[in-house]
Amino acid sequence: MAKTKDLTGKRFGKLMVMHQLKEKIDNRIAWHCLCDCGNEVDVKSVYLTTGQTKSCGCLKKDMNNKNLREQYDSKRVDGVVTPLFKGKTPRKDSSTGFRGVEKYYTRKSKELRYRAWITVKGERYYKSGFETPEDAYYKGRLELERKHLPGRKD
Ligand SMILES: [Zn+2]
Repeated sequence: MAKTKDLTGKRFGKLMVMHQLKEKIDNRIAWHCLCDCGNEVDVKSVYLTTGQTKSCGCLKKDMNNKNLREQYDSKRVDGVVTPLFKGKTPRKDSSTGFRGVEKYYTRKSKELRYRAWITVKGERYYKSGFETPEDAYYKGRLELERKHLPGRKD
């Protein structure tokens, strides 16, 4: 039989070892411990020495609560961030009222025109010469999307 290491008075996490149990647990030597929270618990030697058990169970409960809080916080961050990436409808805050449409003036006659643009993989494509932003969006921008955005077959 292996020599019994006396753990009396030793501290493992939140547990203070009070005394050895007269009866073994699962045929293993066990100790009666006092947890910092005030609970008393019987723990097998191996659980104490390997660091598997560091409290009466209250420590684990604390950590679970902490994990839940962190999950909740990360969800809240997502909730704030994700709406910024929703942009499927024409944006109302651009100068023309349409996403991917900008106005410009023709070089010679200085007439107001609209052009559609799209950026795909760092390349910017234009379709110019529209007289209204609606035309630029529906005839220009949407065509550019069909032509240049991958996976669009309509
Ligand atoms: Zn405890």
